[in-house]
Amino acid sequence: MTTYFAPSTLSKAVAYMQENQTTKIIAGGTDLLVAHYQELDRLPGLMDIGNIAELKTITTGQEVEIGALVTHEEIADHPWLQQHVPALCQGAAQVGGPQIRNRGTLGGNLVHASPAADLAPPLMVLGAVVELTGSSQVQVPLEEFFKGPGKTVMEPNQILTKVKFSKPAANQGGAYLKLGKRKAMAIATASVAVIVTVDNNRLADLRICLGSVAPVPLRAHKTEDLLRGQRLDLLELAAGERQLQAEISPIDDIRGSAEYRRQAAGPLFRRALLQAINNVGVTQHG
Ligand SMILES: Cc1cc2nc3c(=O)[nH]c(=O)nc-3n(C[C@H](O)[C@H](O)[C@H](O)COP(=O)(O)OP(=O)(O)OC[C@H]3O[C@@H](n4cnc5c(N)ncnc54)[C@H](O)[C@@H]3O)c2cc1C
Repeated sequence: MTTYFAPSTLSKAVAYMQENQTTKIIAGGTDLLVAHYQELDRLPGLMDIGNIAELKTITTGQEVEIGALVTHEEIADHPWLQQHVPALCQGAAQVGGPQIRNRGTLGGNLVHASPAADLAPPLMVLGAVVELTGSSQVQVPLEEFFKGPGKTVMEPNQILTKVKFSKPAANQGGAYLKLGKRKAMAIATASVAVIVTVDNNRLADLRICLGSVAPVPLRAHKTEDLLRGQRLDLLELAAGERQLQAEISPIDDIRGSAEYRRQAAGPLFRRALLQAINNVGVTQHG
């Protein structure tokens, strides 16, 4: 018989995890219940964190903090986030369908560590850091968090408590595009998030992160290096696409072949880059 524990505070949850390290955490359950449906009564234990109010908050301002239990729907519908970090809202709005978006959480999306997780690329280009709470509290850059499909740097006694990032500056713009087999209820065949910094009609800086084209959500550092500093009217887009295609390592699966993913990632990136440049400045007022 599986033990079920539903603490009402983070401190109770943290204390419980120190004593019961084989217990599985359940948030929205949209990944966990699918993965363990046949063996729920044989799990060593379940800790339901769904009652912990501290994990449900969104703090906006120069520094943004989003609690682990915030759902995709809450992110997608949040007016301040829509205005200042539209790429993140685009990611959240494209998760599954309405039922999944209303149950599935930010924390679950990251800890499940699917290479196709829709929140990972936009958060990675925002330079997000995840807060992990166990016997002590640590902050880990999202770029160092994923170790492979389903694998992260987390210790068994840790809870992902929040995600933090700085509000983008007025000369930055972002976009997230997802290629899937359908418009809803489809895991990404390939996805890309881009954030650009534009200065004096030049691409002063850019960050690119792709989903579903490598074992982990992947920063395309070499493509960033190639395009950084270029004039907006002389952007070497074709060379950028080729570099990006060389930098990814997609696999064949039911959603698409490796070759299809490589071909598709180039133009998907080009569209996201141009959209991000277009978005510079339009989201910052108010
Ligand atoms: C039909 C369907 C469609 C889907 N479509 C998409 C999609 O389009 N895009 C996409 O990205 N995902 C999709 N998903 C996957 C899933 O809905 C999301 O990843 C969701 O965000 C998971 O959150 P959750 O709260 O339900 O996680 P849970 O299932 O509760 O947990 C997932 C994992 O994370 C751990 N965990 C959860 N929260 C924490 C925490 N705070 N600290 C430590 N560990 C934690 C759990 O122990 C478990 O291992 C889909 C799932 C289904 C069933």
